[in-house]
Amino acid sequence: MRIDVPTLYYLAIGTLSVAAAMTLWERRSFPARTRELDLWAASYSVLALGCLAMMNRTSLPAPFGAAVTNLVMVAGYWLQTLGIARLDGRERPGWAIGAIMMLAALWAVLGTWIPDILWLHVGAAAVALPCLFSAALLWSSPASASLRSCPVAIAIFAGHGLFYVARAVLLPFAVAAFGHDVLAVAAMATMFEGVLYSVAAPMVLMALVREEREGRLLELSQTDYLTGLANRRALFRKAERLLARGAPASLLVFDLDHFKTINDRYGHQTGDDVLKLFAAVAEAELRPVDVVARLGGEEFAALLPGIGRDEAKAVARRVSQRFSSAAGDSKGLNLAVTASVGVAESTTGTADLDTLLAAADRALYRAKHLGRNRVELEPVLIAKAA
Ligand code: GH3
Ligand code: MG
Ligand code: MG
Repeated sequence: MRIDVPTLYYLAIGTLSVAAAMTLWERRSFPARTRELDLWAASYSVLALGCLAMMNRTSLPAPFGAAVTNLVMVAGYWLQTLGIARLDGRERPGWAIGAIMMLAALWAVLGTWIPDILWLHVGAAAVALPCLFSAALLWSSPASASLRSCPVAIAIFAGHGLFYVARAVLLPFAVAAFGHDVLAVAAMATMFEGVLYSVAAPMVLMALVREEREGRLLELSQTDYLTGLANRRALFRKAERLLARGAPASLLVFDLDHFKTINDRYGHQTGDDVLKLFAAVAEAELRPVDVVARLGGEEFAALLPGIGRDEAKAVARRVSQRFSSAAGDSKGLNLAVTASVGVAESTTGTADLDTLLAAADRALYRAKHLGRNRVELEPVLIAKAA
């Protein structure tokens, strides 16, 4: 089998068109990233047009064919970079427009004098610039840097950019050393690398966006919709990590007192406001390392790593008191609400969350039984053999 440069052009046009169509399809399932996906679909379409222009550039009067081809290709790359910049809400159209205008001016002024130098060196450098810029944007991206596919994306854009830097810088030396036959080999290598890039770049950008979407869905599935606190699932996930360290920890389980009466008397909306107020007070009173979660209904839990039972009881009292006084504020909800709290302590840190929850629930039941608005401690120290 023989592969020639036109075959590779056709291949690249095919892969870029498919990438544009698939990217447009993806935008329907990810409303948060439609602008980025639009820019990338436009980029692949423009690059495909660039390949068409490249195949036919000699049928247009020189240097017009080369200039148009070069400008279309560079515009296609910049569209991709603009989409990447937007991932972090950064708009960079000035850079793209500036780079394309400068290139157009160079072609207009020098195109008839030194078309080969413009095509082989300046044109290649103009392609390298947006690719290296894309790699740098991803490197410093708060939105994407933590994603698993980000290093792969950086490698693809930096690799493609460096390929064009090498083409711009090394090709004249190669031609001087080995003659003009090198140009045919370079054209073949460039198109072969181009076909690989036309598959790899859309794939990795799609992977980035999908990974980000999965992360958001995972976060949503672990967040309580009403209060924004961690939900029961997230509490278990975080507790597993904290308790596995083996350090002591205490668990507080809060249950708002006579909450049904509040709903009945003031309406469900006011009940919701009370729940949100409790969440806000608990978050403000606890440390960032503590895990505060809504277990369900009007029950909340807080896991306090490194805190013993006496301190945990004090924390429980403080949160309850702050909550009651915030709810009673005459400028706010102006309601008399209290909470009962059950506290359990994992002395050796080897108790699992199920055991701790059961113990804190027993203490909570006692607190309710003893008249509510109080903190009770489960006296049995829970320590499971590791
Ligand atoms: P106790 O002091 O024994 O805990 O009594 P209680 O009324 O607080 O407990 P009970 O379990 O009888 O009632 C809990 C109420 O919480 C019943 C339910 O309608 C209400 N509730 C559960 N989830 C929500 C919610 O998301 N919003 C509102 N407004 N109410 C809720
Ligand atoms: Mg309850
Ligand atoms: Mg209750």
